[in-house]
Amino acid sequence: MIEVRCPADGRLVGRVPSTSPEQVRAAVARLREAQPEWERIGPGGRAAWLRTLRDWLLDNDRHLADVLQSETGKPRAEAAFEVPVMCDIINFYAKNAARFLADEHPRPHGPLGAPKRLTTTHRPYPVVGVITPWNFPLAIPAMDAVPALLAGAAVALKPSEITPLTAVTLARGWTEIGAPPVFTVLTGAGATGAAVVDEADFVQFTGSTGTGRAIATRAAQRLVPYSLELGGKDPAIVLADADLDRAVNGIVWGGLFNSGQACVSIERVYVEAAVHDEFVAKLVARIGRLRQGGDDGSYRYDIGAMATPAQRDLVRRHVTEAIDAGATAVTGGRPGEEGLFFEPTVLVDVDHSMACVREETFGPTLPVIKVADADEAIRLANDSTYGLSASVWTGDPRRGERLARELDVGAVNVNDAYSNLFSFTLPHGGWKNSGLGARFGGAQGLRKYTRRTAITAPRLPTANSEITWYPYGPVRSRLLGRLLRVLTARGARRWR
Ligand code: ADP
Repeated sequence: MIEVRCPADGRLVGRVPSTSPEQVRAAVARLREAQPEWERIGPGGRAAWLRTLRDWLLDNDRHLADVLQSETGKPRAEAAFEVPVMCDIINFYAKNAARFLADEHPRPHGPLGAPKRLTTTHRPYPVVGVITPWNFPLAIPAMDAVPALLAGAAVALKPSEITPLTAVTLARGWTEIGAPPVFTVLTGAGATGAAVVDEADFVQFTGSTGTGRAIATRAAQRLVPYSLELGGKDPAIVLADADLDRAVNGIVWGGLFNSGQACVSIERVYVEAAVHDEFVAKLVARIGRLRQGGDDGSYRYDIGAMATPAQRDLVRRHVTEAIDAGATAVTGGRPGEEGLFFEPTVLVDVDHSMACVREETFGPTLPVIKVADADEAIRLANDSTYGLSASVWTGDPRRGERLARELDVGAVNVNDAYSNLFSFTLPHGGWKNSGLGARFGGAQGLRKYTRRTAITAPRLPTANSEITWYPYGPVRSRLLGRLLRVLTARGARRWR
């Protein structure tokens, strides 16, 4: 059994079994058995079940927030946020599934395809393995399991061993509404996840870059496809013409939401010299008004605990090393006395040799770097092994959009943080070490869980043979060669 503890005060909040590889194999076999009927009922039938689940989520939102808060130590406002996010995802994909999965009939492009009716169909991978991290125990499973289920796949969800209780509650909801047995939660640590990779037909992973690489290697051995959403070191660029109050408010939220434990958390801030000092002063003042505290079910706190001791220690190391190398913590800089808290921290006088700027911190830190101009900010922002997302803060949104094209990242928010994640018609995927593939992106977010079949059929009555078939012979083959030449050549010289 795995014990689950509340990071805010260390109390035991639940126990879940550690699922063995044999049990994973048996569970996936059961999913495989149930999946064909799930595929057969079509997008409309599946959407009806997901809408019933949405209603169950809303009817149980308080309980879900309690469970989620108890295992993460998040502030109540953030714990309560994940149910509506899941409902929004269900609504979007339930509404559009039939359209996104409909057959397509591409036009033939040339002479050989011209007499054919062409069709592309989308059929699901039978079993999708969804492996998730601890930072958003409901929202991340929702982002991937909902489209996979609506695509017609059965889903084996392997939640993080640190926060498995919300996923177990979700699985209970799926059973309670009487839905077909095509969704199961397999609790356990890395070995259980590895067993899921060994059994699934498609693997969707969210987590650290190291584990993502291990999963990719394992999936490659089996030749099963995978999609990875990994770490980030998201830069924020503040230009001198920005509305500084909005930039400060947005960067404080984008950097400290969930104690900075989000892949898309702002982890580096580049500020044009002209406004640097004013920005830092406002940033420190704004952070000074935040309330940090534990899990009491109220909406009193803005910032909660770190999820694990290892995570708190990593943040402490990044901050201590930076200070030892000449940086200054203008606010924060220390772990809390009890529970797994770490003070929201602003570091100045940092540079690109420091771990707090180069490595993923995943904590409530905001290193701020003074830059001469936008060009220097872009150059430094791109000087990273990560490329998940970025934000640009400017008084001229069109200029922000132009600069977005120079950033080597999967998403850029102008004058906002996180907002691309709530636009399901946009793809969410990282460049470089931040991932491979993407989630969402409108139709692609569903179709990634499907395999395509290309079908050709005659448009007109057919003869008993085709000119391209046997037998070959000088007259027919030359004639065919000429015909193809005329059809494929461009310009009089080559037609001749
Ligand atoms: P973190 O360091 O953020 O906890 P990980 O990337 O290690 O993140 O974990 C994310 C998810 O991947 C968790 O559900 C974890 O149990 C799972 N996991 C860890 N190691 C493996 C592995 N080798 N194969 C499959 N899943 C794994």
